[in-house]
Amino acid sequence: MKLIINNISENESFARTVVAAYMTRLDPTFEELADVKTAVSEAVTNSIIHGYGKEKGKIEIHCTIKGKTIHISVQDWGIGIEDIDKAMEPLYTTKPEWERSGMGFAFMDAFMDHLKVTSKVGEGTLVEMDK
Ligand code: ATP
Ligand code: MG
Repeated sequence: MKLIINNISENESFARTVVAAYMTRLDPTFEELADVKTAVSEAVTNSIIHGYGKEKGKIEIHCTIKGKTIHISVQDWGIGIEDIDKAMEPLYTTKPEWERSGMGFAFMDAFMDHLKVTSKVGEGTLVEMDK
């Protein structure tokens, strides 16, 4: 399943709902569904807020199911992340003035079984997750 959305905040809830609908054939528990929705929501919000900011851009969400596992990737072509290890530390945020808590990656890591972040400054960010 491939979903391409514009970087407007209204599309964040749309994206997480589409992924949840795609996942129903795995017959997930309420908790599994809630975990995946939160993780997708955090990743897409990051692309909108940090990746693009005021610039216009596309976000691509790609899902595949293999056996009982859903693989989800969220890609943007925004500013990218300079230090991925630091960005993934709980409570680390580059936007404290926007009341960001720096917990997005920590939630993705906690709620999903696997999390991998690939990024290049000026080229964009790819977040890959399994559940
Ligand atoms: P919160 O998610 O709690 O609102 P946050 O977004 O700052 O706060 P994280 O989601 O953990 O926290 O992200 C940590 C930092 O990583 C961000 O502050 C930002 O600097 C960087 N970052 C995350 N995703 C992206 C992205 N797609 N493009 C560029 N930078 C990103
Ligand atoms: Mg975040």
